[in-house]
Amino acid sequence: MATGIIFLGSGGGRHSTIYQTRSTGGFLMRHGGSMLHVDPGPGALSNMNRIRYDPALTESLIVSHCHPDHYSDAEVVIEGMCKGGCVHRGSVYGSPTVIEGSGGLGPCLSEYHRGLPGKVAVFRPGDILDIDGMRTDIMQAKHSDPTNVGFMFHTPDGAVSYVSDTEYSDEIADQYLGSRVLILPVTTPDENRIRFHLCTEDAIRFSERVEPEVAVFTHLGMVMIRVGPERQAALAESRTGIRTVAADDLMTLEIGREIVFGAMEPYPGRWLPDNVP
Ligand SMILES: [Zn+2]
Ligand SMILES: [Zn+2]
Repeated sequence: MATGIIFLGSGGGRHSTIYQTRSTGGFLMRHGGSMLHVDPGPGALSNMNRIRYDPALTESLIVSHCHPDHYSDAEVVIEGMCKGGCVHRGSVYGSPTVIEGSGGLGPCLSEYHRGLPGKVAVFRPGDILDIDGMRTDIMQAKHSDPTNVGFMFHTPDGAVSYVSDTEYSDEIADQYLGSRVLILPVTTPDENRIRFHLCTEDAIRFSERVEPEVAVFTHLGMVMIRVGPERQAALAESRTGIRTVAADDLMTLEIGREIVFGAMEPYPGRWLPDNVP
């Protein structure tokens, strides 16, 4: 069974999130028969309902940092994972602000919700996690939540990286060398750079450095959405020669020998691992 990803949101940044111009629910990853939810911001729950995905199937949850577009639905996702809070199961991974609170940020999860999963762990750059059998490298980021990180997921189908919110630097990009799929949070278009985030020009440098098979733009901000993420992705592709796709809500990615993009139709969709009846 190929590794699969569905984007429960392709928006990010303050205004896309407030107005839900795009959903901001993060993404689900199916890997080796297990389900991982990454960064469930606003829209995660409603989109899981739209694709008839049952959060009780999720084994692990990651929250990269303590900004609402990445964490606001996390407590309810945990309740779902723990079958309404009736069983202790699953794992939750978060940065120090997410789990413990630090520097005026967080914690994002109440003491009650931290008590529900089978395991709760704090990660820091340089850590290596075993997420339901999948090695995950925790990478340095440079963001306004200083505990934010990025991820390199070593799936059975190659390395899939999710960079999470960061500024560009060569050092940050070089951590992701060897990625087949590079998921970049491209908040703003062209050279419209805002501090602690990537714009299209930064994303182009990132892709040129990492040379993945496929780059995906997500975490799209309001101005980016207005300008046209598809056009920005096409511009990046023409400059880098690397296949570059702008995410949309409910976009899917099947990563096998080939990497195939698709889209779920909400109602009556159903996005489940093959081994679940
Ligand atoms: Zn964000
Ligand atoms: Zn952020």
